[in-house]
Amino acid sequence: MHELSIACDLVEIAEAAARTAHAEGVAVVNLKLGVFAGVVKEALLFGYDIATKGTLLEGSLLKIEDLPLVIYCSTCNQESQLPSIQFFECPVCGNPVTEIRGGKELELTSMEIIEHAYQTA
Ligand SMILES: [Zn+2]
Repeated sequence: MHELSIACDLVEIAEAAARTAHAEGVAVVNLKLGVFAGVVKEALLFGYDIATKGTLLEGSLLKIEDLPLVIYCSTCNQESQLPSIQFFECPVCGNPVTEIRGGKELELTSMEIIEHAYQTA
């Protein structure tokens, strides 16, 4: 299950950022995920729960924003969103897709950290 290793990478990056920010913990991690990134969302969420165990991110929520598949058609000279990743043709003219412009994203966008609730002496 390669989603688990992806989740581990994400957790590593997020935890490093949380440590830099001197966070006590992390509440929410926001991720952009393209429909064509080759990642199964449910598997990633499952892997995330495993990967966060024992880290600053344990118990945090992974919020995934789905990004659509965006293609560019040289015939129409415009970008379009594809409703499905099963049909690689321009929804306007029906020509085969020549270029994929979006939908492969897999990136951490932001996170909500838990700061120290009180100052220790
Ligand atoms: Zn077209």
